[in-house]
Amino acid sequence: MMDTIVHDNCGVFGIFGNSRAAKLTYFGLYALQHRGQESAGIVTSDRGIIHMHKGMGEVSEVFADEKTLSRLSGNMAIGHTRYSTTGASSLINIQPFLITNRSRHLAIAHNGNLTNSLELRQKLDAKGSIFQTTSDTEVIVHLAARSRKRRRIDRICDALTTVKGAFSLTLLTEDSIVAARDSHGFHPLALGRFRKSWVVASETCAFDIIGARYVRDIEPGEVLEISAAGLRSHYPMKKTKHAFCIFEYIYFSRPDSIVFGENVDKIRRRLGRQLAIEHPVDADIVIGIPDSANTATLGFAEESGIRFEIGLIRNHYVGRTFIDPHQSIRDLDVKVKFNPVKGVLKGRKVVVVDDSIVRGTTSRKLVKLIREAGAKEVHVRISSPPIVSPCFYGIDMPTRKELIASHRSVAKIEKYLKADSLRYLSLEGMLSMASLPKTDFCASCFSGRYPIKPPAINGKHRLKPRQGLKA
Ligand code: SF4
Repeated sequence: MMDTIVHDNCGVFGIFGNSRAAKLTYFGLYALQHRGQESAGIVTSDRGIIHMHKGMGEVSEVFADEKTLSRLSGNMAIGHTRYSTTGASSLINIQPFLITNRSRHLAIAHNGNLTNSLELRQKLDAKGSIFQTTSDTEVIVHLAARSRKRRRIDRICDALTTVKGAFSLTLLTEDSIVAARDSHGFHPLALGRFRKSWVVASETCAFDIIGARYVRDIEPGEVLEISAAGLRSHYPMKKTKHAFCIFEYIYFSRPDSIVFGENVDKIRRRLGRQLAIEHPVDADIVIGIPDSANTATLGFAEESGIRFEIGLIRNHYVGRTFIDPHQSIRDLDVKVKFNPVKGVLKGRKVVVVDDSIVRGTTSRKLVKLIREAGAKEVHVRISSPPIVSPCFYGIDMPTRKELIASHRSVAKIEKYLKADSLRYLSLEGMLSMASLPKTDFCASCFSGRYPIKPPAINGKHRLKPRQGLKA
């Protein structure tokens, strides 16, 4: 993705039944780092004693010290890695959240976004609940705490039948972990086996890193309790139409993960192939925007027969580079991240494949960079349709106004990018690349048709997509 301003909110992980639970969670989160780089946290239970550590930064920064991890004793853990706003206000929102109620503890880690959290929060507020954070996730633990059900798992189920929207969760009690997925199944959550332990994670790449085996997905609407008694599934939520986030295949998930039961690599490659079929172009070479468009670019090259080249080098060590707003070097923000390979581009007709365009500002700078490196022609091909609407289910996106395709035609975007041609994959073409039925997917950001009406659309409430968007 040329624009680095769409962020997945989170990656979640959980493990039950291993004396090195915190360490394995650390490695699991490390593999899920691409789902959120601004904060991370781990909570463990050591025979009922709860330990927690969390902070701002990438997983390796938050747990930079070996001692920090060794203090997190216990044979069960949950962890979270998150994209969030910077600044003091977001410190309180670092997950997992831990609450104590009736002398019992409950920790929660959430990937997704609730669509009725404002309404529920107001009600809970009026009844005396004291919120510690400004996050929608906290609503779930308050609802569980207020439930009249006796057993802990029933209280969790009670809370999950009240909230609406997207949630892939891991929860931790003193003696169990719980994995739950909303009944639409927006975001992935998988179950794995590591020796005699059970593991759950947003993506299966987190299993690979510790040597765990993928067993199955947590089903949409399933609440899976993992304790010394084994696995127990509960289905408290009403069954509904699936709405798997298609963007997981396009951009968010790693190509080495199995998501919604399919290899991401395979689907992403098919997207590139389909793009080449729908929008052929006469060119000398095809390059991808690293790293997210690499796999789709390979598919495009295979189908079109145009030679695949590495025409842009991405600097992986960018981190939090300080860029002076008064800098005299033009387009420094893009140049810090990407450098064109002149020997590859000079005098060539170039196809540039990317997975999506958000605001278009970075794409425009990259087209310019490639041209300045000597490319004769620059043809942009996008392996998804134009993004016309924001996401209300857990993906940070700019507001509708800021999405370039919400107010400009493809021809106008092509002109804005100063590309020789710009073409997007069709909605139909994108949805037919997965083996699952097309109707099983959410593609709201491309179609504007939402499976759960966001409050902003049904007019009852004003709901913005999650805060924390970068310019
Ligand atoms: S709106 Fe887009 S990003 Fe959000 S869940 Fe649906 S497909 Fe995914």
